[in-house]
Order: sequence, then structure tokens, then C-alpha cells
Amino acid sequence: MRVFNFAAGPAMLPLAVLEQAKAELCDWQGSGMSVMEVSHRSKAFVAVAAEAEADLRALLAIPSNYKVLFLQGGATLQFSAIPMNLAPPGASVDYVHTGAWSKKALTDAGRYANVHVVADGAASGYFAVPPEAGWQRDPTAAYLHYTPNETISGVEFGFVPDSGQVPLVADLSSTILSRPIEVARYGLIYAGAQKNIGPSGLTVVIVREDLVGRARPGTPPVLDYQAMAAEGSMLNTPPTFGWYLAGLVFKWLKAEGGLAAAAARNRAKMQALYGYIDGSGFYSNPVAVDSRSWMNVPFRLPRPELEKPFAAEAARAGLTNLDGHRSVGGMRASIYNAMPLEGVEALIGFMRDFAKRHG
Ligand SMILES: *Cc1c(COP(=O)(O)O)cnc(C)c1O
Repeated sequence: MRVFNFAAGPAMLPLAVLEQAKAELCDWQGSGMSVMEVSHRSKAFVAVAAEAEADLRALLAIPSNYKVLFLQGGATLQFSAIPMNLAPPGASVDYVHTGAWSKKALTDAGRYANVHVVADGAASGYFAVPPEAGWQRDPTAAYLHYTPNETISGVEFGFVPDSGQVPLVADLSSTILSRPIEVARYGLIYAGAQKNIGPSGLTVVIVREDLVGRARPGTPPVLDYQAMAAEGSMLNTPPTFGWYLAGLVFKWLKAEGGLAAAAARNRAKMQALYGYIDGSGFYSNPVAVDSRSWMNVPFRLPRPELEKPFAAEAARAGLTNLDGHRSVGGMRASIYNAMPLEGVEALIGFMRDFAKRHG
């Protein structure tokens, strides 16, 4: 039986995509092999790879002066690859610190560049995005990095920062494809796949052409955007299965009406869940209302000792992985693209019943 999986990542995938992958797993396109067993240089796979890129370009309306790279190493490797590619030795780089993932990004960047924190959410306990008006930006920074959605705390930017002439770099791991974005506002976008794109092991980088070809000496070729772009992300063997499956997810999103339709579905899910939490008198969400995440909804129970029974009973009801991140506790429901509204409604139904029994 399929459950409603509220994991933050690896996360739920659309059932239609899994069914298709299953149907063609052992004999892909009449090859007598699975897609995992064909050469990445074969005509058939190269076509799949190109189609995935074209579909992603169509979904996000990516301008033609941007490269799309399909890489390995997760978003975490990009924490280092970004300064290695965009910051010359000795350069200063701007970071907005809004929670755990931006902290990791700026810590890793500190090994390659002078990191300057332009704003820090500490004053709010990292439960709100610091207002842009108070940011202390360095106009000479090599780039401005931010984390549009902090997956662990459920804190999301309700705006795209205005970085002026400084390239804007965004870790969209947990919010990419949840709604339309204006790619031209960014110098570079990156995302690990395992939240809204496909299986783990694949990382998507969307980078403006003028930022490619600037890697510092000593950058490994697989981390050098220029070297990878020149080879169509096939300088070495790419994560073929992840790339293929991401392509199926992109086709599924297109068939479901593209990102405007995804945004409408995600807004409905998010509003239903926050609306219930706020009105429940039992559950609470600690995040400032204007900084609430569409994709990751943390919530607390009135007494911490209820957390374990809540998670256990929910799992028995087919609602899994509702425990919050080990660093923050509480509960968290991740409701990415593949989570249907019925899953959120089932969760609300369970929460209502649990509150009645423990209120
Ligand atoms: C999950 C996540 C990461 C880490 O991704 P990996 O692919 O595991 O390296 C980084 N940033 C954000 C915002 C995330 O949600």
C-alpha cells in the first residue's frame, strides 16, 4: 500500500512517474536493457537527457543565455563549487543567514572566499526572514547567496532579493518547481533533486553564461561549470537513472498544467494546513506569517511528550515521516509537488482526531 510520505527528502515521487519507470524498467525502449544499463553516450540516452533539459527549460521558462547542468554531489557540493567558480581568490562574497542550510553554505564558502553575512535571522530565532531594507550588502561582492526556502525550519522568502549588479545565487533545493520563478533575476540557481525533481544523486545547476568560465585554478573539472557545460554534463558518467527519472517528473509536471497549476495546487495545500494549525488551539507553527514555507510546514504539539505517539499513530494511519528534523524536534510535514491535496486533507483529519483525544 502507498502511504502519504511527508519526508523532507528524499521525498515522495508522483505515483504516475513510478508506474511508468516500473513498466519500462527491464526493457527500456525495446533495448532489452534497463535505462540504468545503457551507455550515457548512446543515442537513446542522449535524447532522454536533452529532452529532460528542454522540458525543464520550458517549465521554468529558462532564458537561452543560461546553461542547465545535471551534476552530482548534491546541493552540498555546490556550497563549495559556487565560490570556486564565481569568486576569484581573495574575493568577498555576501550571504544571508536564515537557518541551517544557509549556515552550511556560508561555512563551506568560507574555505574559498571572505564570507560577509549581510543579514542574520538570529534576532527572530531564525523564525523570520530579516527585512531586506536592513541588509548590509557589499556592492563589490562576487555574488549574493541566499536560501529561498530553509527546509528544516520552514522559513521561506516571500520576495526575491534585489542584488543590483551583483549576481544573485539561490539554493532552491526545496522549492524549485513549486511555482513559476523569474530565472533572469538570478545569476545561478542550484537544487539537489530529492525534494521536487527526482531521486537523490542528481543536482541541477542553472547558471547565466557570463558566470561560466571563471573557475579558479585548481578547480576539479567535474566542479568547473565551463568544463561540464562544454561536455553537456557528460564529462564523466552522469547519474543516468536520476536524470531519466527527473525527465519523467518534468513531463508529469507539464501534463499537470505546468508551474502555474503546480502553484495553485501547492497554495491550496499550504493554506489548508496552516489554516487548520492556526485555528486548532492545539497545534502551533512558530514561523512569522510572512516567512512561512509552502513546502515544509513545521508544527508543535502542546506537550513534547505527545510527539512520539503522534508520529507513531500517524504512521499507522499511512501518514509517514512527520517527525521534525533531529536538530529542532517538533513535527514537520513536507508537502512537495508530489503530495496530493488528499494527503494534506488526510493529515488534517488525523490531526483533528488526535487533538480531540489529547486536548
Ligand atoms: C536538502 C537540502 C540541501 C542538501 O542537499 P544534498 O543534496 O543532500 O546535498 C541543501 N539545501 C537545502 C535548502 C536543502 O533543502
